Amino acid sequence: MNEPRWPVIGHEWAVEHLSRAIQHGRMRHAYLFTGPSQIGKTTLARAFAMTLNCTGDQPPCGECRACKLIAKDGHPDITYIEAEQEGGTLKIDQVRGLQQVVALRPYEARYRVAILKRFHEANPNAQDALLKTLEEPSPNTVLIVTANSADSLLATIVSRCQPLRLRPLPIDTVRQALEWQYDAPQDIAKTLAQISGGRIGWAIRALEDTAALDRRIAALDTLNEALQGNRRDRFKLAEQLAKDKGELFYLLEVWIGYWRDALLCATGSKVPVTNYDRRATIEELAHHAAPDQIEAALLATRRTLDYLAKNVNTRLALETLMLDYP
Ligand SMILES: [Zn+2]
Repeated sequence: MNEPRWPVIGHEWAVEHLSRAIQHGRMRHAYLFTGPSQIGKTTLARAFAMTLNCTGDQPPCGECRACKLIAKDGHPDITYIEAEQEGGTLKIDQVRGLQQVVALRPYEARYRVAILKRFHEANPNAQDALLKTLEEPSPNTVLIVTANSADSLLATIVSRCQPLRLRPLPIDTVRQALEWQYDAPQDIAKTLAQISGGRIGWAIRALEDTAALDRRIAALDTLNEALQGNRRDRFKLAEQLAKDKGELFYLLEVWIGYWRDALLCATGSKVPVTNYDRRATIEELAHHAAPDQIEAALLATRRTLDYLAKNVNTRLALETLMLDYP
């Protein structure tokens, strides 16, 4: 038998598992793909949907109508739901909307596939609502839930899904993929692979958008500068930052992610951190500051973001924030 050729980098065991399930007609009604963000969970889900519905000789052929539409997320029977933005909340209405969709027969596909992305961002009501769908599966429907960790979901959801836990890829696999499949220059491929921590999706995105990478690194460096500085340094920084309000929204979003990581570390959570390349500094911060200090910093950063949206005095808001930081 031929090795399955799925459009997925790494995660060979998961591809093999899913492709064998299809070959033997033993697909489960619901799957749970877990792992750190941008590790390839949605890519795997998409490839699974392709293989389920491919009409070519060797699924997924990548050439038939189903494969092509699914590859560009334009197939009418493949539905995605996710929180409006990363770090946002997936709401009950979205799950209810999905329930109505999956109750229908597929238009043209063999299997209707619903992909629920970052389901750890679903609020408790939305998680409850999903349970109902899991308890009453519709025929010819496959649900794929993705989340950073099974720990962040209701145990009753986890127990109704076939779990597949994706791990970061070997750094060398990421490097080779960047070089061979994405034509990255050697040195860039090596650096990105390193800071990706094995998250292939992150590395590919960073390669395609180096400006975004620089922007993120600058935002994290600024936070570091603030944390290292004394009160006067921090106020000076606040004054500087207040001059570019447009960039501030982005900056604070990045900082919120950083504090969230620090809080995870400080509370000994098994959920993997998002800012992989800063793991060492985050661990150090979590070691030196108490969890409630970190939580206070996280809340203060969120609050500041809200204030800015409401047109308050930017500099004053930033100065207050700086005082709330450990
Ligand atoms: Zn195909």
